[in-house]
Amino acid sequence: MSGKISVWLALLCVSGYIHNADLRSIQKEGSQCGYQSCHPTKPNMLNVHLVAHTHDDVGWLKTVDQYYYGSETLIQKAGVQYIIDSVVEALLRDPEKRFIYVESAFFFKWWKEQTPKVQDAVKMLVDQGRLEFISGAWSMNDEATTHYQSVIDQFAWGLRMLNDTFGECGRPRVGWQIDPFGHSREMASMFAQMGFDGMFFGRLDYQDKDNRLMTKNAEMIWHGSANLGEETDLFSGALYNNYQAPDGFCFDVLCSDAPIIDGKHSPDNNVKERVDAFFEYVTKMAEHYRTPNLILTMGEDFHYQNADMWYKNLDKLIKYANERQANGSKINLLYSTPSCYLKSLHDAGITWPEKSDDFFPYASDPHAYWTGYFTSRPTLKRFERDGNHFLQVCKQLSALAPKKAVEFEPHLNFMRETLGIMQHHDAITGTEKEKVALDYAKRLSVSFRACGATTRNVLNQLSTPGSARVEDAKYKLDMKTCPLLNITSCPVSEENDRFTLTLYNPLAHVVSEYVRIPVPDTSYKIIDNKGAVLEAQAVPIPAALINIKHRASTAKYELVFLATNIPALGYRTYYIEKTESGEGYKQPRLLPKNKSSVTVIGNSNIKLGFDTNGFLSEVTADGLTKFVSQDFLFYEGAIGNNAEFLNRSSGAYIFRPNENKLHFATEHVEIEVYKGDLVQEVHQKFNDWISQVVRVYAKDSFAEFEWLVGPIPIEDGIGKEVITRFNSDIESQGIFHTDCNGREMIKRQLNHRETWSVKINEAVAGNYYPITTKIDLEDDTARLAILTDRAQGGSSLKDGSLELMVHRRLLRDDAFGVGEALNETEFGEGLIARGKHQLFFGKSSDREGVSLKALERLTQLEKLLPTWKFFSNMEAYTAEEWRTSFTNAFSGVSLVLPKAVHLMTLEPWHENELLVRFEHIMENNEDELYSKPVQFNVKNVLSSFEITGMRETTLDGNAWLDETHRLQFAPDPEQAAFNTYATFDEPQAKAVHLLSAAKPMLGVQYAEEALPAGQLGAQSNRVKRDVTTEEVRKTKRNRKSKLNADEAAKADNGSQEFIIELSPMEIRTFIVYLKEA
Ligand SMILES: [Zn+2]
Repeated sequence: MSGKISVWLALLCVSGYIHNADLRSIQKEGSQCGYQSCHPTKPNMLNVHLVAHTHDDVGWLKTVDQYYYGSETLIQKAGVQYIIDSVVEALLRDPEKRFIYVESAFFFKWWKEQTPKVQDAVKMLVDQGRLEFISGAWSMNDEATTHYQSVIDQFAWGLRMLNDTFGECGRPRVGWQIDPFGHSREMASMFAQMGFDGMFFGRLDYQDKDNRLMTKNAEMIWHGSANLGEETDLFSGALYNNYQAPDGFCFDVLCSDAPIIDGKHSPDNNVKERVDAFFEYVTKMAEHYRTPNLILTMGEDFHYQNADMWYKNLDKLIKYANERQANGSKINLLYSTPSCYLKSLHDAGITWPEKSDDFFPYASDPHAYWTGYFTSRPTLKRFERDGNHFLQVCKQLSALAPKKAVEFEPHLNFMRETLGIMQHHDAITGTEKEKVALDYAKRLSVSFRACGATTRNVLNQLSTPGSARVEDAKYKLDMKTCPLLNITSCPVSEENDRFTLTLYNPLAHVVSEYVRIPVPDTSYKIIDNKGAVLEAQAVPIPAALINIKHRASTAKYELVFLATNIPALGYRTYYIEKTESGEGYKQPRLLPKNKSSVTVIGNSNIKLGFDTNGFLSEVTADGLTKFVSQDFLFYEGAIGNNAEFLNRSSGAYIFRPNENKLHFATEHVEIEVYKGDLVQEVHQKFNDWISQVVRVYAKDSFAEFEWLVGPIPIEDGIGKEVITRFNSDIESQGIFHTDCNGREMIKRQLNHRETWSVKINEAVAGNYYPITTKIDLEDDTARLAILTDRAQGGSSLKDGSLELMVHRRLLRDDAFGVGEALNETEFGEGLIARGKHQLFFGKSSDREGVSLKALERLTQLEKLLPTWKFFSNMEAYTAEEWRTSFTNAFSGVSLVLPKAVHLMTLEPWHENELLVRFEHIMENNEDELYSKPVQFNVKNVLSSFEITGMRETTLDGNAWLDETHRLQFAPDPEQAAFNTYATFDEPQAKAVHLLSAAKPMLGVQYAEEALPAGQLGAQSNRVKRDVTTEEVRKTKRNRKSKLNADEAAKADNGSQEFIIELSPMEIRTFIVYLKEA
């Protein structure tokens, strides 16, 4: 016992000594991070860059905290705190070693627990490039289901924490998306706009990967935007073996590979054998890449809890491999990082292939299309979107507050960080265990409470004259959020006869919005801030919603009114009072059932017809009447033992419908029709677990479909994947469009991929794409588009048809690690989900006034960030008292932005600073008027702040744009591209190793399913470069005005410094300096 203790003490002394030695060296060497800290490569040799890394999921099988502290070891032996402890120790002992760290959510949790001495030591490691941050966002975000606003936010926050803590040396230069399940073009664009030099990723379609490796096209220049030109080009590389170490070279405590045994006389000495095997691996790998540099990812999920095991064996591997150079070996191993590898590629001075589409959908084998997670956990996906919405409200109100309270910043940070966690590729994706999903939801709801305290404070300051000057003002207004409005429930409006509704508008445009409030009765009077009584309509809540068990609400109606002219970045408050029957409201009118002819609802912009069976049958708009139907259907989820590809189950990741079997929910829909002056509704009941309200508001140009699905029955032993499908006779010829993370649209074609000839073994799942906000199709005359309120999987499997998967409940795991079936329950029953689609229909071109595409964009923004509803009890105030006691309208801006410009971000940043982003929300040529460049004066927009200056930054807000220089990579000459690369004639017998897509360390076994000849080999799939599809994209975004001289002159003539211009899809980010308080 005592002997052991003295050994430990001795070790502590040694490491303490090393700490000090290294700390001293910091003064001598100074900062030498960045590319200059890279170990040199050797010319005329194959340089093997060994990248020591750990992949630390911010929640998956365990919660964020369980992973950090290392609890629940029976689920997974993973403790992030030990990893960072252990790696830092190892790095301090040896300046040769390198390590990269990715997830800021974990790093800063660890950082805050360290003593100043350890923090100084870590700073030294970062300054010397020995510990390097890669990507640096709060989490490694998913790319299919995330919205760009949230991705930018979580990078801004992670990079800011790194910048504040480590300065320039903490700034990552390379993106690291090694685990997300497919890759979006918008993500490449965002990385480029954040100043990243390149990005590496692990997962792409197995056919695409095979093809790219065979033709040396795994590393490429990716054009991130169809609108923005070269500034969104990003060098991107597909890693050879996902992010795992080569077979046999996994030296972690979690692995079972043999260590390098180098005892001279040991009977187990394996040095020669191991080095031979390693050389064989890298020699083969080198055939697939263009330069004499290879990147090898030496790590996996939660590796390096005992860093010495990895490093000791890597040391030996490097030593014995490089010793052979004396005997003529041309292979050189070195400790490296992704950025050092990227620098070597850059310095090779060669040209690279180009890519303009994206990497969706991702398939890891012929029957595993990772398209289920586009929809998995639909309610968590929606909750996340609500979270983003409220985060923006919280940011803005924190910035607009006349008097800041000390708790504003921690509240805001907590919500920023929670939303950062939500973007993780096992959070918003729905691919985590049920318990972990609940933990995410809990975190999110706590962050709502935190930010809710801030918004309550600020809205009271703004609404109550004089309260800003009162310390600890007793709030007169509740300013409560009703979190259950999604099931039409709100205690304030249900229990009080007098209450107010404050609508906070987070857009820098004046908006009008139809408002719905849950109420128990039909007679209410709505009074606006000027005392005018508004027209109102009470609409019954559908029975299917009222009958939801555990919905503790007395509301039977929704009170509908049109709130007009809600000030930009401001609010308007309405007083709502219960009245005697007969004044100020319209009774709901239930129309007699129409059995013999078509039922029609709508207005002069758009009309919807329903047939005698209750289904939507036609839509009229822009003078066009077309057959358009809508139906609910469900696929049967495949059930198999996952022992081989053919037996794959549908699960949280994978969508695999059983023989593509599709069932109609019903043949006859029961309907009720309600028509009023504000809204007309058809309430549809498809069956006991699917219902819908289809509505058209009086002034809208679109129709809204509010669906309610669940509990999905499973008593028949069949998992179900429920879709809504719109059929039309639009001749779309297999072409449709889907959005990239809510921004640019990308063209899709049935059974087709842009860069290789695909063979699809799953006809439905292989044609599914992520829909974050929109899917559309059109022909020469008509256009149909659907907006979604959360990410969903979707496709167009037939001409004129659009489908979206709204909910799924499955009975088997798909064997990618979760170990649970996606069988969500709540209160002991299957989970119920509710959501909205907006349908746009009309002329595809030559439309009178605004184009449909522009109208869709404007609506998309208003649906993403509608007004936030704050409720306050008003029992103590009559309407008149309320009007005279409070400030019931407020605007934070004086110049309202043009509709095409979105004030995407307004948040407090450092002391006396704001972070501000402006975005042009149109693409080129979407509309004659709205797609024009726009110019305006920032100072006039943000007039409620005393602005002293501003400076443009990269998209993330942490680096000056004019000081940011990215590595440039040259594209292949168009003609040469075909002939330069090796062709492989022998059949690719070993290609199956590429298919190993399992999450590491979970013991998922793959049978080596025989693949038809040519399916994987280069022979049949050689890249067919279609030169005509290569966009001509050399239109470098320039800062010269794109407006003509007349228009530019018309722009307001304030200080030139604050006038900015935006072209379509452009986002510009600024630090705005405020006068010191
Ligand atoms: Zn992961």
